[in-house]
Amino acid sequence: MQQTDIDALRALTVPSQGLFIAGRVEPAANGQVLDVSSPIDGQKFTTIADGGAADIDRAVVAARTAFDKGVWSRAAPAERKKVLMRLAALIEAKALELAVLGVRDNGTEIGMAYRAEPISAASTFRYYGEAVDKVFGEIAPTPPNILGLVHKEPLGVVGVIVPWNFPMMIGAWKIAPALAAGNSVVVKPPEIASLALLRLAELASEAGLPDGVLNVVTGKGSVAGEALGRHMNVDAIAFTGSGPVGRRLLEYAARSNLKRVYLELGGKSPNIVFADAPNLKQAAKVSANGIFRNSGQVCVAGSRLLVQSSIYDRFMADLLDATARLKVGDPLDVTSDVGAIASADQLEKDLGFVAKAEEEGARRLTGGARIREESGGYYMAPTVFENVTPEMTLAREEVFGPVLAVMRFDTEEEAIRLANATVYGLASAVWTSNLATAHRMVRTINAGVVHVNTYGGSDITVPLGGVKQSGFGRDKSLHALDKYLELKTAWISLG
Ligand code: NAD
Repeated sequence: MQQTDIDALRALTVPSQGLFIAGRVEPAANGQVLDVSSPIDGQKFTTIADGGAADIDRAVVAARTAFDKGVWSRAAPAERKKVLMRLAALIEAKALELAVLGVRDNGTEIGMAYRAEPISAASTFRYYGEAVDKVFGEIAPTPPNILGLVHKEPLGVVGVIVPWNFPMMIGAWKIAPALAAGNSVVVKPPEIASLALLRLAELASEAGLPDGVLNVVTGKGSVAGEALGRHMNVDAIAFTGSGPVGRRLLEYAARSNLKRVYLELGGKSPNIVFADAPNLKQAAKVSANGIFRNSGQVCVAGSRLLVQSSIYDRFMADLLDATARLKVGDPLDVTSDVGAIASADQLEKDLGFVAKAEEEGARRLTGGARIREESGGYYMAPTVFENVTPEMTLAREEVFGPVLAVMRFDTEEEAIRLANATVYGLASAVWTSNLATAHRMVRTINAGVVHVNTYGGSDITVPLGGVKQSGFGRDKSLHALDKYLELKTAWISLG
């Protein structure tokens, strides 16, 4: 990745964006647009269409029409595979362009954005493309006069709603298995980071995906998102985002057509460091990255750090040192370790959590303020609080920003109690050299993933998702295909 290539791409003018419906780019029915400004400098650089209920309806009709025609839903799996593999190759070929476009939209540091957005999306499309012709139905063990077949069929129209952090990666986790299974899809991207998903839909068309199979309607969550959630002709919603919006989607489903709803929500993930961690310096460095990369705007961020008392002072010195070394800067500068906060609203929210933590008696060790204000963009210093207790807001609520809450523990039992004292259950980590401790922790921590002696690593082969109020349903891995396939029984009398 060359800085000169990045600079050339960031200088490109981005034309006003339309909706992508039935293979065509179209304005919103009401003609309205939303300004798109960059968190890098606060400047407006393009507009997106402000889609509404009429546009969602057009997109759903296009998706349903394509589904009923069978152009994709009844295409041979090997044909679907070819298109998904071509799409993966196109994404890879345009990876830097897509990454820079996405960073201008949401401010993620380019190194991470490049790997996590286009490169990861390409591998996701390839993974499900490769999987699609290996999905089998079943022959049931029925009595001899009966043939019992279990077919796996696509659901129909799947609505995909994603957040502004990693919209392409998270979008691909849903779009790829839904398409692989033969569904049509309508995507509602996040209003502050829609550009990469619009580009993805164009690339899918270029790869040979039939018109109407993948549609993108940009617009406000409370308008376009709600219309998708309430639509009577949508069979499932695959959502990643906040808890309050997840709850609304369940309500919309209950009040409309009982569509399936899959929710990947927030977290308050514990990162637990025992005194016998194999390499404490390394653990401190990885722990700092585990909360501060992408300015903490990561659903699985290790936002609660639990450190065993006997190593507390030493470990905290290393953690603060690693934190101080992180360069917060222009996300399109390859030397920046941490980029911008995605919006002015989010920055204000993050600073509100800092004020609350101080008010409630936590002790700030570093950070806590807006920085680089002269850039016009939204940047915040990595922030660490200690003396956090489980009752404090900072221990209970997801900040979704660069703010770390640190607590001490003495025993394994205390670590488990603190770790599980949350309504969330998305991610977690344990640092220890003791195999038995590690396995006991894996069994007792309530979370969708327990990392051991690392934080945040994962790939497409393993499921991702939460327990408790972090949601239900899993993205990634072969298990995700099940969300987009319906089982149908054939019970055939053989006479
Ligand atoms: P959000 O819930 O505000 O928005 C998510 C999406 O929902 C956006 O596209 C938005 O337009 C749409 N939306 C908003 N209101 C809606 C409504 N009434 N009906 C339908 N759609 C609506 O979340 P955000 O601020 O974009 O993202 C941050 C949240 O996402 C955090 O809570 C974070 O933890 C979570 N997240 C979770 C994961 C995960 O895998 N579990 C991954 C990334 C982010």
